[in-house]
Amino acid sequence: MKYALVCGAGGFIGHHLVNRLKTEGFFVRGVDLKYPEFEATRADDFMVGDLRDPLICREAVDRRFDEVYQLAADMGGAGFVFVGVNDAAIMHNSALVNLNVLEACRKRNAGRVFYSSSACVYPEYNQKDPDNPNCAEDSTYPAAPDSDYGWEKLFSERLYLAYHRNHGMQTRVARYHNIFGPLGAWTGGREKSPAALCRKVAETKDGGEIEIWGDGKQTRSFLYVDECLEGSIRLTRSDFTGPVNIGSEEMVTINQLAGLAMDIAGKKLSIKHIPGPLGVRGRNSDNRLIQDKLGWKPSWPLRRGLEKTYAWIEEQLRASR
Ligand code: NAD
Repeated sequence: MKYALVCGAGGFIGHHLVNRLKTEGFFVRGVDLKYPEFEATRADDFMVGDLRDPLICREAVDRRFDEVYQLAADMGGAGFVFVGVNDAAIMHNSALVNLNVLEACRKRNAGRVFYSSSACVYPEYNQKDPDNPNCAEDSTYPAAPDSDYGWEKLFSERLYLAYHRNHGMQTRVARYHNIFGPLGAWTGGREKSPAALCRKVAETKDGGEIEIWGDGKQTRSFLYVDECLEGSIRLTRSDFTGPVNIGSEEMVTINQLAGLAMDIAGKKLSIKHIPGPLGVRGRNSDNRLIQDKLGWKPSWPLRRGLEKTYAWIEEQLRASR
């Protein structure tokens, strides 16, 4: 039997990853500060623990795991990452987790160690034109991420790559671009735009109005969680270290994303633009490197994933009433 460790297994992507690895027949240990919020974990063993603590990390990595997925991070959508007041916590908490988990993996000679970085590492100066953002992997330097969340990701990427160079560890680094899907935060402040827009559309009567932060002309691409897992697992088992983008190339404006959610819901709503935290003006995944190195890139159309996400959020709303 193969052994996998998922750090952040109580979170959105980590929970989906545990399910996927169980389907493949792995023995899976999950670790997180909390259990998954929306359904029971399928992990064989689930440790509730704080990975900022090196002793907890030693306990979690108490054997040689074939695959370790380090997804634990202090994170959220624009309403959490771009408001300024969480910067110190984000940098302190996530850096400690990465330092401790990676060192514990080194001591136990872990097989492969995957790290989920983010498109937030890309410099702000290449993302000012909403129609032509540059997020090619080789455009990272000179570094100028627009958030401290991005700076921490960049530091930690370098940490995983340094352990690869200096200790010969098989580390893998992916840069996720806006992952979405069911079983993720959809209310409460940490939710990201696809979930927030689906919720707003679902809770508004036909003919009503929803609010969007900014003018809605900022662009992004969104990747459905199953495709994210496929890319992450392929990268982990490949010979390529990364960093490499894992994202969709289907770039849309936030207004278009809202329109798509309305279309799925069969509602016509007007949009009121209000001030709010925004992030960069434009961002899109560049998938040339992943296609070249892994012979694969995500292909699901945005609508397909959004239909599944909308249906799930509508169900959550109904159940909460
Ligand atoms: P999430 O917030 O749902 O999951 C992260 C999990 O880490 C949470 O369950 C949290 O409790 C756990 N965690 C935080 N601090 C911890 C600690 N000290 N000890 C133990 N567990 C701790 O986020 P997600 O969307 O599932 O993201 C997973 C990873 O992917 C994160 O590293 C994130 O930065 C990265 N990422 C996600 C996206 C996205 O669009 N979702 C985009 C880019 C990068």
